Amino acid sequence: MISGKTKLVGLIGHPVEHSISPAIHNSAFAAHGLDYAYLPLPVEPANLAAAIAGIKALSFAGANVTIPFKVDVMPYLDEIDSTARFIGAVNTIVIKNGKSIGYNTDAEGFIKSLQQKAIVIKNRNAVLLGAGGAARAVVCGLIGYGVSQITVLARNRDKAEQFAQSFENPTIFGGAWDNDTAKKAMRSCHILINCTPLGMHPMIDNAPPLDWDNVASNAAVCDLIYNPTTTKFLATAAQSGYRTLNGEGMLVEQAALAFKLWTGQEAPRNVMYETFITTFSRTS
Ligand code: NAP
Repeated sequence: MISGKTKLVGLIGHPVEHSISPAIHNSAFAAHGLDYAYLPLPVEPANLAAAIAGIKALSFAGANVTIPFKVDVMPYLDEIDSTARFIGAVNTIVIKNGKSIGYNTDAEGFIKSLQQKAIVIKNRNAVLLGAGGAARAVVCGLIGYGVSQITVLARNRDKAEQFAQSFENPTIFGGAWDNDTAKKAMRSCHILINCTPLGMHPMIDNAPPLDWDNVASNAAVCDLIYNPTTTKFLATAAQSGYRTLNGEGMLVEQAALAFKLWTGQEAPRNVMYETFITTFSRTS
């Protein structure tokens, strides 16, 4: 029950009404008997600075940040930890001693979701489809865990190349997803990850264009999308015999890491997974 001592956290985004994060975090707080409450905090883009000042003024313990503010929020924070700075985006804010500190738990959340499925990262080749914010977190996570090579493919070759070059790392390449470089990368790929929104609800019939005959047969095929839980991309991969992983693990694991940043306690991850499944089946 909310009391005068309840610590507040919330989700800053635009829109936020369809988010499952309030259910996941509130169930986790309840499971640990913690006097915390997680609120949806819809913010118009023009009000972002005021919203950050507002959560500090209102003595919030922190917040999550989602689309479209993960990058734009950075100048309004007092400090940014090194991982978030490297990724170039913040998805979690902790407010401590009146200061707002930005973190990013997406990269580590994605890695944990791979590890749970025993997908090996070290010395493996990864191919990413899409070169946006989530792809950036995925690249940072993979680099940190000793991946051998990353090829980032996107519909816009220039964007993919600029994205790859921004890491200043000779093992990261970028290119268009319909050329020979792409085909070569697919043939030696161990982990293939869809980092585009193609196939996400409600456009569930979309999928990245892919010649599955070119994809190494032992590749693990991942999609960051969790709504629907099986995208057309993953369904095609499964039909062709590939191991598959959807975005549920990344969503829950990034939430579990944020929970620990706010509370100092290990998150009840099983409760968070169960809440994801029950809430998702009710709302989708
Ligand atoms: P983003 O920053 O907007 O980047 C999207 C990328 O996909 C860009 O490279 C974009 O290319 C490309 N793209 C978008 N629409 C496309 C289309 N119709 N055809 C071809 N390429 C297209 O988005 P994001 O934040 O990276 O998110 C990407 C996906 O990851 C979303 O589905 C999101 O829900 C999911 N995600 C999941 C989690 C999780 O916890 N599971 C966390 C974060 C994100 P252009 O630059 O050319 O537009």
